Amino acid sequence: MSDTKILLPESEIPAQWYNVIADMPNPPAPPLGPDGQPITPDALSAIFPDALIEQEVSGERWIDIPDEVREIYRLWRPSPLFRARRLEKALGTPARIYYKYEGVSPAGSHKPNTALAQAWYNREAGIRRLTTETGAGQWGSSLALVGQMFGIEVRVYMVKVSYEQKPFRRSMMQVWGAEVLASPTDQTEAGRRILAEDPDSPGSLGIAISEAVEEAASRDDTNYSLGSVLNHVLLHQTVIGQEAKRQLEMVGDYPDVVIAPCGGGSNFGGIAFPFFADKAAGREVRLLAVEPTSCPTLTKGQYAYDFGDTIGLTPLMKMYTLGHDFMPPGIHAGGLRYHGDSPLVSQLYHEGLIEAVAVPQLATFEAGVAFARAEGIIPAPESCHAICAAIDEANRARETGEPKTILFNLSGHGHFDMAAYDRYFNGELEDFEYSEEAVRASMAKLPKVG
Ligand SMILES: *Cc1c(COP(=O)(O)O)cnc(C)c1O
Repeated sequence: MSDTKILLPESEIPAQWYNVIADMPNPPAPPLGPDGQPITPDALSAIFPDALIEQEVSGERWIDIPDEVREIYRLWRPSPLFRARRLEKALGTPARIYYKYEGVSPAGSHKPNTALAQAWYNREAGIRRLTTETGAGQWGSSLALVGQMFGIEVRVYMVKVSYEQKPFRRSMMQVWGAEVLASPTDQTEAGRRILAEDPDSPGSLGIAISEAVEEAASRDDTNYSLGSVLNHVLLHQTVIGQEAKRQLEMVGDYPDVVIAPCGGGSNFGGIAFPFFADKAAGREVRLLAVEPTSCPTLTKGQYAYDFGDTIGLTPLMKMYTLGHDFMPPGIHAGGLRYHGDSPLVSQLYHEGLIEAVAVPQLATFEAGVAFARAEGIIPAPESCHAICAAIDEANRARETGEPKTILFNLSGHGHFDMAAYDRYFNGELEDFEYSEEAVRASMAKLPKVG
């Protein structure tokens, strides 16, 4: 019997990140400034270091990973690839199911893969302070973790409702030395504007981004760091897919379908893009992004230029969007509650090169619990979305009798999400459908371009 855990030695941590832009059939749609013209790279230099701006626009297929970043990756990379034998058996499927487990990082998700790289380039550029936003706290804790490694102060604008409901992620950020504020705050123009309209605003990712960007843009010693969506973030995450490919090769397998949850697109891009390289070269492989029905960006949004934040401080990005003032319902997969999506993922979806599906909340928890009972690991609510789709694929394989190979990304563990599991077991969780009407109302407010 072949291995259950497929492990790579530290010497096989990838030496380069893979840039999907090199293999896309069309160049990415450029970000636009307030005047509707493509922005110049230096428009971003107030908040990002040059090296990351270069990566954002680079067309090079491979980009070297700095030695010190690879050195620190050793704390959690290469991450294990598991063959889900017990889940396969429980489902009675002929499919082979594999999952790449990113919950082994200190912060418990894939997010430190890019946090580390971003903090390193900022330190190299002489930056001593970073601001960022966080929803459920996964990203804030990842940046806090690496900030202290490089002597960088980290200030996190945490969506107020999460700040109140998720005290342990907040504590984690404090252990790693970050300052955490409940957003909207009265410390930025953006925050004060929101509070003037609604003093009890629960906050949103879009608002917190506005605050963090505003502060970074106004201080020379401070840059901004984003946990998803941007090209360089997805680039850094491609260590996941590169390792997974190598691990499957070790057991002589190759996926028919690669599945990942999709919020801003970073862990999806991370696992799927290295397989897209094969697809571009003619190999058949399906790449499937899974999102919540309550925030169905790819499946119900519009492919249009929109802001990345609520107030409209960021450049306009061409992406699937539900509208920049979209207020997602309070589902528990906090990492999937973003109005937009990665422009790269969006373009590939628009061109029919990747697939997307939306799944309702209750089904995701049901899948997550079935997974935990078979495989042991308690998945993050975001990861439950991928599990749900993977189980659907495995069940289809049972019906057709085809021994498909399914690979999914288990993007994080759910140890800080037990309150959500509690609510699931108490029957307190609901499914939310985002109505066509709400989509239309939000779309009417898209910025006019061209
Ligand atoms: C943040 C997060 C996600 C969603 O973000 P992406 O950028 O789409 O990857 C998914 N899973 C976990 C565990 C997360 O923390």
